[in-house]
Amino acid sequence: MEPDKDLIIIGAGPGGLAAAQYGARANLKVLVIEEMAPGGQALVIDDLENYPGVSGPVSGIDFCQVMEKQAHDFGAEFITATARSIKKENNTFHIETSKGSFSSYAVILSTGSKNKLLGIPGEKEFTGRGVSYCATCDGPFFKNKKILVVGGGDAACDEASYLSNLSDKIIMIHRRDRFRAQKALADRVLHNDNIEVRFNHILKEIKGTMKVSTVLFENTETGETYEEEVDAVFIFIGTMPQTALVPDLPKDEAGYVITNQRMETETKGLYAVGDVRATPFRQVVVAAGEGAVATHCASQHIDDIKGMSYI
Ligand code: NAP
Repeated sequence: MEPDKDLIIIGAGPGGLAAAQYGARANLKVLVIEEMAPGGQALVIDDLENYPGVSGPVSGIDFCQVMEKQAHDFGAEFITATARSIKKENNTFHIETSKGSFSSYAVILSTGSKNKLLGIPGEKEFTGRGVSYCATCDGPFFKNKKILVVGGGDAACDEASYLSNLSDKIIMIHRRDRFRAQKALADRVLHNDNIEVRFNHILKEIKGTMKVSTVLFENTETGETYEEEVDAVFIFIGTMPQTALVPDLPKDEAGYVITNQRMETETKGLYAVGDVRATPFRQVVVAAGEGAVATHCASQHIDDIKGMSYI
């Protein structure tokens, strides 16, 4: 029996949306399954300033809405559902979701990644009550307040810069003596008068009653521990890939799905793109490019199955 769709895309971040647009434009029957709003982690971008050809203040939300519309206008179908499993029988994939099952010749996994937690006392307890993982979502609640940012990568530097527009009392700690972030983003933080950077610092505990009131720091150079009052703690210490649907696929040491340069995983017809894929550089533009490559290769695979290959 023929599957319902040619191509199913699981996850509608920039990688999945680009894949959907390319697939629908190539006349494939495309279904995108997303459990939240299309856009993924890109939705929290305040100003997408490094996507080639897009300039001026553009929020991640606006950018992703245009990507979704493009895919939709070319004919891609979207459903809001949670994908629960992927199984392959002969040339057909069967996807079980919270809204029923769907089948296709090819699947693109673009399930992205989730924020890592520090795992310290008080973190879980005060999440939503002063502890946050998204500056654009929660920053405005802490206008002119004393805000702590934890982390040293691109996300921490980007988000600290965003928060410095809301308050001039930002403390940023990082466990090493310099930032991991791209130089442009790190320099922006280091030259920002509203951000006080403390290197060689770790956060040991978050305290409060109804909401965050105090944190416990350790200066790892001196061994000194000390408490300080803060109103909010924003944590950006990296991400974890969402790979529960593909437990058996090969991953790198950090758990990201390994593909070849055609975005093919070890399972024929199953591709991975964006933040769930093992890649040296996680960017919106990279995810979108990977989505285009995956769909191009999936389309050739589908033509092979249908006996329509251009040889
Ligand atoms: P990341 O690059 O993995 O950086 C995570 C940072 O958190 C590192 O500095 C790390 O310290 C620190 N860290 C990790 N675990 C920690 C712990 N338990 N306690 C204290 N600190 C800890 O993650 P990211 O910044 O979320 O970025 C993820 C990906 O998205 C990257 O590929 C990044 O380039 C991309 N991204 C790009 C942009 C942009 O281009 N504007 C913005 C956001 C994200 P160490 O340095 O010691 O490991």
